[in-house]
Parts: sequence; C-alpha cells; structure tokens
Amino acid sequence: MGRRSCVKAAALCAVGVLAASGCAGGGQDDEGGGGDRLSVATGAYPLQWLTEQVGGDRVEVQNLADPGTDPHELELSPRQIGTVSSADIAFYIGGLQPAVDDAVADQGGGNGLDVAELVELRTLEENAESGGHEHGGDGEGHEDGHGGEGDSHDDDHGSGGDEAANESGDAHDHGHDAGEPDPHMWLDTERFARAAEGLADRLGEVDPEHASDYADNAETVTGLLDEIDTEYSTGLAECESRDIVVSHSAFGYLAARYDLHQISPAGLDSHSEPSPGRLAEIAETVREEDITTVFTEPLSDSGAAETIAEEAGAETAVLDPIEGVADASAGDDYPSLMRANLDTLSEALRCS
Ligand SMILES: [Zn+2]
Repeated sequence: MGRRSCVKAAALCAVGVLAASGCAGGGQDDEGGGGDRLSVATGAYPLQWLTEQVGGDRVEVQNLADPGTDPHELELSPRQIGTVSSADIAFYIGGLQPAVDDAVADQGGGNGLDVAELVELRTLEENAESGGHEHGGDGEGHEDGHGGEGDSHDDDHGSGGDEAANESGDAHDHGHDAGEPDPHMWLDTERFARAAEGLADRLGEVDPEHASDYADNAETVTGLLDEIDTEYSTGLAECESRDIVVSHSAFGYLAARYDLHQISPAGLDSHSEPSPGRLAEIAETVREEDITTVFTEPLSDSGAAETIAEEAGAETAVLDPIEGVADASAGDDYPSLMRANLDTLSEALRCS
C-alpha cells in the first residue's frame, strides 16, 4: 500500500510543477533524502511499471513523461534532465523519445540502460512480415493471409519495400518509419519479460547486495507476462477478422505475436500526419474486408481513425497502446490495460 501511494505521488508530481519539493526530491538529492534506495529514471509508463515490479521497495522510480500524455511528444525541462543525470539508472527505449535519448547521451554519464541492448527491436516491416511465424502457427492458415486477399493489404506500411521510399508525398507519412526500429516492444510480452530480466541484472550490478531480490522479482513479472500471453493466444486463436485498423503504428509487435494484421494511417510516431488519400485508401480496405471496428487511442489525437470509421461506416473502440495511464484509460496499470485490450480485440474481431 505504501508503494502504491508513493507511485501516485510521483505521478501527480510529474503532471505539473516538477519543482514541487515533496515528490520530485527523491532522485534529485538521493545522497540525502533517498536513503539507500536506488533511483531509476524511466522514459515512458511501461518502463515505469516494469521498474516498479522488478525494483520493488528498493527502488525509487521517476517517470519523465506525464502519465496522461503521449510520450512520443515528451520534452524535458532542465530539472528533468537533472533527474536523468542524477539517477543511478536511466531506463529508456532508444528512438521512442529523442529528448530522453539526448539527455542520456549528454548528461547520463554512462547510467543509461537502453531496452534495445536487452532485446532485439524489429522494424515495422519485419513485424509485418513475421506475423504468425514467430509464435509457431496454430494451423489455422492465417500465416499467408496477407498476400492472398488482395492488394489493399500490401499497402499499409509501404511494405512494398523499395517502392515506399520513392512515393515522394507518402514517404513522410509512413514510409520513413519502415527502416527504423519499432520502439513499442512492451506490447510483446516475451520481449517485455526479457527487458525485466535485463533490468534485474543491471540493478544487481549497481546494488549487488540485493541482486537476488531483483532476480526473484523479475521472475514474478515474467510469470505474470506469460499468463497474459497465454490469455492472448487463447483469446485470439479463432477470430472472424484478423485486421486491426489503428491510429498509429504502435501494435506491430502485438500483431506479429498473435498473427494479426496492423493497418495504420500513421507511422511509429503518434503525431505524424496522414494524407487524405491514405485515409480514403484505408476506409476502402475497411469496407472491402468487412472490418467492423476502427481503433482509437486514449492519449493522443485519434482524428484520423475517426475519419476512417466515419467514411467506412465502421464503429470505433479504444485500443490502448499503453504509452501512459490517464483517467480515461480502461485500467490503472499495465496488466489491467493489456487485459482490457484483449477484451476489446476479442469483441471487435469476433473471436470465439
Ligand atoms: Zn507510439
């Protein structure tokens, strides 16, 4: 209970005045008030949650992104840069938040732990191509669904390969993301579990006395993530549709893992602006493929998804990329949000 209120306090603190002494203090003056707890600065909510699980009471977590905002747009105040530089560990996903990448590189003094060092990140294209393969197909014949159902499917992230880069206007909208690593790895439970183990190792290096506690905690998180993974595999095994039309390309790992097909008007970054032509094209796919639901997000502008739904006569539902937690969120932590997403997917894709 103590930990929970502490987290709440930290979250509140991040919302407004970072200088508010009571809560922002922990990592700033950890020589003094922080006692012997380790301080870990995290870039985005999923890493905050993971660090709280693995670090337990021994670690003070300071998340840099306001819990109710889109982490892609994060900018850091000088004080937050100070938080990065004074932390024992700065835990982040390279490429998700350029401001954090820069702060760690310039001010971190070697305290950075990039998730990309712990797990292999894939590009959107690699995720799109691997749908169903990584997880061992369940024999439902979904694996070759992409190629067989018409051209509309081949267009979604410019997966036509080299051609995407040559479409001058479109390249900015989605083509430019094709070769970059997709940072949304937390939506892949297995990668997220590997990140928990890597974090436990690093915490154990900084604080060898409690290394076995961190390892035990990581094992507990891994067990929970395995459970969620099983719920997804079971829940999404038999569905009438496997196409997910989403607001930005956050669900590549999730789609690859459970053999879904992500269709998105925007790239990896939530504020890339889709062209009207792209929206019309997706709306047509929605109609042709009998897609009943277009997914919006709680934290960032989902205007493009709403336009598509309206044009195609489809419904909308919220599928949360879990980039933060807000009052409007369907849950209050990573597991509850993952499970809410599974319910949403099962209903929208008509899974039995
Ligand atoms: Zn995102």
